[in-house]
Amino acid sequence: MKQTAKIAIIGTGFSGLGMAIKLKEAGFDDFVILEQSDNVGGTWHDNHYPGCACDVQSALYSFSFEQNPNWTRMFAPQPEIQAYLRHCAEKYGLMEHIRFNTHVAGARWDEANSGWVVETCNSAKLWDYMEKKGLKPGDELDRSDKALPPIRKLRSEILVSGMGGLSTPAYPEIKGIDTFTGASFHSQNWDHDYDFRGKRVAVIGTGASAIQFVPEIAKEAAHLDLYQRTPPWIMPKPDREIRPLERAMFRRFPQTLNAFRQSIYWMLEARVLGFVGNPRILKVGELQARRHIRNQIKDKELRKKVTPDFHFGCKRVLISNNYYPALDQEHVDVLTEGVREVKGNTIIDNNGTERPVDCIVYGTGFKAQEPIPRGMIFGRGGQDLLDAWREGAEAYKGTTVAGFPNFFMLMGPNTGLGHSSMVYMIESQVQYVLDAIKKMDHRGWKSVEVKEDAYSQYNASIHAKLGDSVWQTGCKSWYVNENGKNTTLWPGFTWQFRQQTRRFDAEQYVCESAEVMEPGAEPALAG
Ligand code: NAP
Repeated sequence: MKQTAKIAIIGTGFSGLGMAIKLKEAGFDDFVILEQSDNVGGTWHDNHYPGCACDVQSALYSFSFEQNPNWTRMFAPQPEIQAYLRHCAEKYGLMEHIRFNTHVAGARWDEANSGWVVETCNSAKLWDYMEKKGLKPGDELDRSDKALPPIRKLRSEILVSGMGGLSTPAYPEIKGIDTFTGASFHSQNWDHDYDFRGKRVAVIGTGASAIQFVPEIAKEAAHLDLYQRTPPWIMPKPDREIRPLERAMFRRFPQTLNAFRQSIYWMLEARVLGFVGNPRILKVGELQARRHIRNQIKDKELRKKVTPDFHFGCKRVLISNNYYPALDQEHVDVLTEGVREVKGNTIIDNNGTERPVDCIVYGTGFKAQEPIPRGMIFGRGGQDLLDAWREGAEAYKGTTVAGFPNFFMLMGPNTGLGHSSMVYMIESQVQYVLDAIKKMDHRGWKSVEVKEDAYSQYNASIHAKLGDSVWQTGCKSWYVNENGKNTTLWPGFTWQFRQQTRRFDAEQYVCESAEVMEPGAEPALAG
């Protein structure tokens, strides 16, 4: 197997595939895509819990250049999205570039050769090793351990991360959790062989994932204890089947699908006015969400328990039509006392009440504040990316980091959205990275690295805008780190991000060829 490539891309989700498609279209063929799973899809392959679906309308949650007239619902279920991504990989000739079952254990900037040395190993062997050692995804590996699966080295000039920000599951730190004698799994590692029928089940967490799978468990389990720390704001889900006739129309007249997509885009974009403009606008949403609770829950005590006490929009606003009715059933208890301890086959809450359970399902989310684990990316001088991010993750235009040449992140820091489709943001970033790679090629630059002052000024301006947003109104969410810094969200309209990423602004970078050269000067190695 070839151990060099001009470009190494990590991941086959929307980011990795989107990047690869555009590279191929631009005539770049010397790239590999490293995928730790055995199929494409990234988060849409890894998350397959019952009820898993997108909470953004699929007409918009898809590539603009590969619109899909065949979605069966307004909000597509996970298997359709995964199949769509597989279709994209096949149609655009990417399969031959993908190395499946390949885990990226680390990547190191090689100063002498102006390139990246990417260390990979077989994922299945690595999962086995981690299980034996009791390690969880995201835990740092001990490189000196002889039992580690063999590491191979791949050299690439450019490294593109399409790892996404929500790929490492977060488990709660609860006393005794590892000693639980029943079954347990995280929403991302769903055990489809586990039979919930007749069982007492505990779910910890009430976020975007949990509200989708809780109704499915409640259909089967004998009893369900739902441990809620913070109730989310939930709106009605405007979901419905897309009828065969409508699909036929989208196929026959693609411009109708595009018009539909545009209408969704602008409808969702209007929400920004509330999130970062005037949070008082969000009061309308709050009233609608309160009405949703009253309409769907009869039990007055339960209504109180599920009503949030923080600003609407501060945490991700969720959508569901079947979550509240699932809770308002005899065999489902919403528990708000918190979990103190797990002991044997019981969960003990903070009041000391002990409840036996057969299975614990963790809907406790992801390590969003550590989108890239420690010990994975090492830049100039061997600096770990997490050390560059001591105050929290940040990047220039969500894509590049000072001290990490030729390293591009898709869905990097402060590119996340609370209101629209991430695929739009990904396409914007792909355009930016593609332009960078084209310029490197044409102008003979061996490396590009964002200038310190551009990097810090950009981040200062992002955080100034975030200061007035609804996300900083005091709730605790994965958007914001322990220092109160929002490292995840883009504070504006998505078209503003697109404007910023339309072209690679080389003047903000140190571009190095044979000798250090400022953009504008004649390249020594013009391509
Ligand atoms: P999440 O939104 O972070 O929710 C995690 C839940 O677990 C929260 O209710 C949290 O409570 C709770 N929790 C965490 N640690 C806990 C502990 N130690 N004890 C008790 N409760 C604890 O995670 P998620 O539901 O997996 O969703 C993550 C993100 O993935 C979403 O925000 C969304 O961006 C994405 N997602 C998208 C879709 C989609 O349809 N597009 C679907 C699923 C997920 P607190 O609120 O108190 O922290």
